[in-house]
Amino acid sequence: MTTKELTHFRTVLEARQTELETLLRNREVIAVNLNSDMLDQIQHAQEREMAIGNLERASTRLSEVRSALQGIQRGAFGICLDCEQEISMKRLTAVPWTTSCLACREAADRTGMLAQNAIEKPALNAA
Ligand SMILES: [Zn+2]
Repeated sequence: MTTKELTHFRTVLEARQTELETLLRNREVIAVNLNSDMLDQIQHAQEREMAIGNLERASTRLSEVRSALQGIQRGAFGICLDCEQEISMKRLTAVPWTTSCLACREAADRTGMLAQNAIEKPALNAA
C-alpha cells in the first residue's frame, strides 16, 4: 500500500472516529429526550430500542475504527488478523475499519450463523 493510500484511509477513519465520538457523547441527551416523550408508549419503546441499538453499534464501530487507526500507526493496516494476508483494496475502500479479509469474514459469518441457529433451535422447539 502506498503512503498516499494510507493517508487517505487515515483521513477517512479519523473523520469516522470524530463522528462516532460526537454521537456517543450525545447519548445522554438522546436518553433524556426519549424519556420525556410519554404520549405514545409503543412508539417510545421502539424509538428507545432503536436509539440504544444505534449506540451499541456506534460503540462497536468506534473501537473498530480506533484499532484500524492503531494499525496504520503500527504499519499493520490492511492485514487480516486471522490469516495475515493483505485485505483487498476494494474491501478496504468499502469497509476501512475491517480487520479481516473477505474469506475469513465469510467463514466467521458462517460460524456465527451456525451458533445462532444452535441458540434459536431450543426456543423454537419450546414454542
Ligand atoms: Zn483472512
